[in-house]
Amino acid sequence: MANQTEFGIRDEKGHWRPPYPVRYAPLLTWPIRPLAFLKWLFGYPGFLWPINLFFFGLACLTWYVLQPSPAQTAQLHFGWIALMFLRNMVLLWLIAGGHHLVFYTLKLHGDRRKYHPLWLSPDNKKFLFGHQTYDNVFRTCLSGCTIWTAYEVLYVWGAANGWFPYLDPVRNPVWFAALFLLTPLWRETHFYFVHRLLHWRPLMHAIHRIHHLNPNPGPWSGMAMHPVEHLLYLSVVAIHFLVPSHPLHFFFNSQLTALTPAFGHVGFEGPVFGGKLATGSYFHYLHHRFVSCNYGEATVPLDLWFGSFFDGEGAYRTRKKAAG
Ligand SMILES: [Zn+2]
Ligand SMILES: [Zn+2]
Repeated sequence: MANQTEFGIRDEKGHWRPPYPVRYAPLLTWPIRPLAFLKWLFGYPGFLWPINLFFFGLACLTWYVLQPSPAQTAQLHFGWIALMFLRNMVLLWLIAGGHHLVFYTLKLHGDRRKYHPLWLSPDNKKFLFGHQTYDNVFRTCLSGCTIWTAYEVLYVWGAANGWFPYLDPVRNPVWFAALFLLTPLWRETHFYFVHRLLHWRPLMHAIHRIHHLNPNPGPWSGMAMHPVEHLLYLSVVAIHFLVPSHPLHFFFNSQLTALTPAFGHVGFEGPVFGGKLATGSYFHYLHHRFVSCNYGEATVPLDLWFGSFFDGEGAYRTRKKAAG
C-alpha cells in the first residue's frame, strides 16, 4: 500500500514522490499565465530568489573581493592560478559538502521527502574505493574543480589581455541587466543539448555512464563526471569568449554551472526545513531513476518540445507506451 508521507506518496518499494506532477516554470509554456509568471519570477522559491540572486551576490563577491586583479592575471603564473583553484575547492566543499553534511552525515531532515528509499552506498564495487560518496568527491575535486578552474583561468587571462568582447555596464545598462536573466536560460539550453549528445550510445558507454552510477544521487553526485563530460558541461561559459559580457556575467554563469548541481542532486524534495531551504529537483531525479527522460531542466521546456518529458505521475513505462 502506498503511504501519504510529508504531503507526498511513498510507494510499496519505498520510493517517495510529491503529490503533484513536475511542472515547467510559467515562462515559455502555453497558454500564457501572467499571474503565475509574476509569482514564479518574484516569489519564494522563484526564479530570482533565492538561487539566482544568491549566485549574483557570490559573483560580485568573487569578482570584487576574491579574484586576483587583471594586472596580475594578464600573465600566467602558478600563484594566482592556485588561489583560484583553492577558492573553487572551498566553494565546492561549502555547497556540496554543506548539503552532504546536513542531509547525509547529520541526517537533520531524516528521510522525510527523500526520493530514494536507500541511503548512499558505502559498500559497492562499482564505485572507486567501493564507496559512492568517496568516488563522487574524488571526481568532483580532481577533474571537476580542475577543469572548472581552467575555464576561469582562460577567461580572466584572455579578458585581461583584451581578447574577449567586453560589455560596459555604464554604456549598456539594459543589456548588462538582461544578460543576468538570460544566463540561466542559456545554461539550460546548453545543458539539454550536451546531455542529449552524451546519451548517444557510444558516448553514454564511454563517458556519461560515470554520472549515471548514481540512480540514487546525493549532493556530491552533481559534478561526479568523466573528465570529458566536465569539459563539455562546463563549456557553457565559452559563450563569454564570443558574446560581449562583463566578468560578473562570466562568474555568475561559471559558479551556477559548477555549484548548483549540488542542489539538483540532493535527493530530497524542497523547499525543506519548513520551507526555509530551497533545494532539490524531482525533475532531474526522474532522469537519474529512469535515464531516458528529462534531459534538461524545468524552465526551458525542451523535453516537452522534443517528447522526452516525464512529469512523475503514473508508472513510467506504461505511460511511455501509452504516449507512443
Ligand atoms: Zn545528474
Ligand atoms: Zn544523463
